Amino acid sequence: MKNVFPIVNRRVQTRSLESHIVDHCNLRCAACCSLSPHLPKWEVEPVQLAEELRLARRVIAPTWLKLVGGEPLLHSRFLECLEVAKAADIATIVSVTTNGFLLPRQPDDMPFPHPYESSSPH
Ligand code: SF4
Repeated sequence: MKNVFPIVNRRVQTRSLESHIVDHCNLRCAACCSLSPHLPKWEVEPVQLAEELRLARRVIAPTWLKLVGGEPLLHSRFLECLEVAKAADIATIVSVTTNGFLLPRQPDDMPFPHPYESSSPH
């Protein structure tokens, strides 16, 4: 069978890696693929996120690292998570998958990753 995921420098090259930084959401979509409407409120500790990405980086090299939820903008330390994701140096692009409803509440100088990925709802 052909290997569809090349291995370069001992790391599997993939299109993307998703990291769930929260489970909860501000919406309750009936067909939520993350099951957010049925899950209790939860958010990752940034230090835990850093450790998980450090371990993942040893074996995987995604083009995209997507911070997802739930609604990632609900994380109480979202900017820390964003900095951790960028500092992990695991992917070429760090993106945030959001339903977009909380974007107007974000500070004007929010250092969103680029390109900014959003969907409504996803
Ligand atoms: S916006 Fe996304 S995460 Fe939130 S409930 Fe809807 S599908 Fe689930």
